[in-house]
Amino acid sequence: MADKWVLAGEISVWARASVATLRSDPELAEKQAKMAISLQKKARLKKPYELKLLFCRRCKRFSPPSERSTTRLRNGYIVRRCAECGAASRTGYVRQRDKA
Ligand SMILES: [Zn+2]
Repeated sequence: MADKWVLAGEISVWARASVATLRSDPELAEKQAKMAISLQKKARLKKPYELKLLFCRRCKRFSPPSERSTTRLRNGYIVRRCAECGAASRTGYVRQRDKA
């Protein structure tokens, strides 16, 4: 198997390519994202952030933001809701304090 560093780079290249083609060709974007996932599983590496956003954590389906999932800000959390199964995933964020 190829070096893990090389594979880590390749995974993020596939993930970013998927994000770039999302608007013009969603089917191709899904294939690219699945390519990234298969490499990530094979190499047992951590998922890059872009790749985490592209799949639902519950149903494991391809649900990119603005296409098949919604993103809302609520009480200091980023809430992403999958349009396929309705699962919500929350990530905290720190609000910027107003300068006095
Ligand atoms: Zn889902």
